[in-house]
Amino acid sequence: MTEVLNQLFIGGAWVDAADGATMPVDDPATGEILCHVADAGPKDARLAEQAAVQAQADWARTAPRARSEILRRAHELILERTDELAHLMTSEMGKPLAEARGEVAYAAEFFRWFSEEAVRIDGGYGTLPDGRNRMLLSRRPVGPCLLITPWNFPLAMGTRKIGPAIAAGCTMILKPAPQTPLSSLALAGILKEAGLPDGVLNIVTTSRAGEVCEPLLRGGRIRKLSFTGSTGVGRILLAQSADTVVRTSMELGGNAPFIVFDDADLDVAVDGAMVAKMRNMGEACTAANRFFVHRSVAEEFGRRLAERMGALVVGPGTRDGVDVGPLIDRTGRGKVEELVTDAVERGARVLVGGRTPEGPGCFYPPTVLTDVSPESRLMDTEIFGPVAAILTFDDEDEVLRRANDTPWGLVGYVFTQGLDRGLRVSEGLEVGMVGLNTGLVSNPAAPFGGVKQSGLGREGGRVGIEEFLEYQYVAVPVR
Ligand code: ADP
Repeated sequence: MTEVLNQLFIGGAWVDAADGATMPVDDPATGEILCHVADAGPKDARLAEQAAVQAQADWARTAPRARSEILRRAHELILERTDELAHLMTSEMGKPLAEARGEVAYAAEFFRWFSEEAVRIDGGYGTLPDGRNRMLLSRRPVGPCLLITPWNFPLAMGTRKIGPAIAAGCTMILKPAPQTPLSSLALAGILKEAGLPDGVLNIVTTSRAGEVCEPLLRGGRIRKLSFTGSTGVGRILLAQSADTVVRTSMELGGNAPFIVFDDADLDVAVDGAMVAKMRNMGEACTAANRFFVHRSVAEEFGRRLAERMGALVVGPGTRDGVDVGPLIDRTGRGKVEELVTDAVERGARVLVGGRTPEGPGCFYPPTVLTDVSPESRLMDTEIFGPVAAILTFDDEDEVLRRANDTPWGLVGYVFTQGLDRGLRVSEGLEVGMVGLNTGLVSNPAAPFGGVKQSGLGREGGRVGIEEFLEYQYVAVPVR
C-alpha cells in the first residue's frame, strides 16, 4: 500500500493540526491502534473555512467541462486503486474486503454520475404573463459547503456529497467521522491528483466535531450544510444552522420495515432480507429494522432466514471467506447487545446467534429473533447490527399502519407477487424509498433520502446536484 495520508488537507496542502494534536484510528477487528491522524480544532476549522471561501469565486467561474473532467479522472483513479482503497476501508471500518470493493465501485460511480451532471446545469429564458417582462433564469453554486459524513460508508458518503458540490461549482470543507478518517484523506489525495484546484476541497479530521463545526455553521460564511448521521445530531445541526439561515440537506436515521406478504416468493424475500439486513453488517440507515411477516409464512420465513444467517462466516474483514466483519466499536456492539437482551426479556425467541463471542475485536453474530414483542426497544431504535427481528401480521391495512407508526421514513421493503398490492403498499408507506421485491435501493442515479425525521433533501439522481445550486432570475422588460 502507498503511504497512508494522516494530516489535514487545507488549501491544497497537507498540514498538522495547529496545536499539534493527533487522534488514534482503531482497527475494529483487533481493537488495536492502526495509526494516528491530525485532530483538528477550531483554529484549523477557521483556516479551512478561509481556504474554501477564498477559492469559491474562481471555482464558480471554472468551465463546467473542466469540473466534469476532474470528477471523471477521479472516478478512474478510484477504480484503478480499488484494492488499495478497499484494504484501507476494511482496516478502519471492518467490513469484509468484498463489500469494501463493492463500496469503492459505488463511491466512484457518484463521481462519474456527477461528472455527467456538471455539464447539464441549465437555465431559462421566458416571457412573463404580462407579455412585456422577460425572465432570464440561471443556476449558481450555493457557495462554500460543510459536509459531515458518518463512518459506515467511509468512501461513498464522501463522494455522494463531494461529487455534486464539485459539479455545481461549490467549495467545501469535509469533516469525516473520527472512526474512519483515512478513506476521506485518500480521496483528497486522489482529487488533488485529478487536478482539483487548491482550496476547493478541505478536509478536517477531528475528534472534536462540535467545537469544529458549530463556529463554521454560525459564522455566516458557510452557505450549505450536507449531513449524514443520526437524527439526534441532525437536530442539533439544524438548530445551529438556523441563525445564519444555512441551507441544509439531512440524511438521518431510519427504521425500515421489511414486509413479507403471504403471496411473496419466499426465496426472493429471503434473498432480499439477506441484503437489506446484512449489507454492511446491518450498519446502514437503510438496514431492515422491523420484519413484518404474514402469520401464514412467518415460521417458514424465519426458519429459512435463520439458516442463511447462521451459515455466514464471522471474522476479520481481511480474511478470505469472511462474510461478516466486526461492528465499528465497543459502543456500537454494546447497543446491539442491549437491544437483543431487551427483546428476549420481552419474550422474543432466538432462532440463531444472540451471543457475543469472547476475544478481541467488536464481533457480533448474525442473529434472528422471532415472536418479537411490539413493545421491544428495537422497534423504535435503529439496531445498526446484524439482528433481524420478526413480528407477524394478519392484513394489509394493519401492517401499513404498524409500518408507518414511527417518526422515521427513510426506506421500506415490500415482498409480494401481486402488482396491485405491491404498488398500493409502496404508495401507502411513509418513506422516501421503497424496495419492491428487492433488498437494495441505493443507486447513484436514484434520489436517496427520507421523509419525516429521516431527513431533508435528496442525494444522487438528477436532483442530487440541485441541493448545491441556487436560482437567480433577472427581470428584463422589453420596451
Ligand atoms: P453515529 O452515531 O453513527 O456515529 P453521528 O450522528 O454521531 O452518528 O455521527 C455522524 C457524523 O456527525 C460524524 O462525522 C460525527 O463526528 C458528526 N458529529 C457528531 N456530533 C456532532 C456535532 N455536535 N457537530 C457536528 N458534527 C457532529
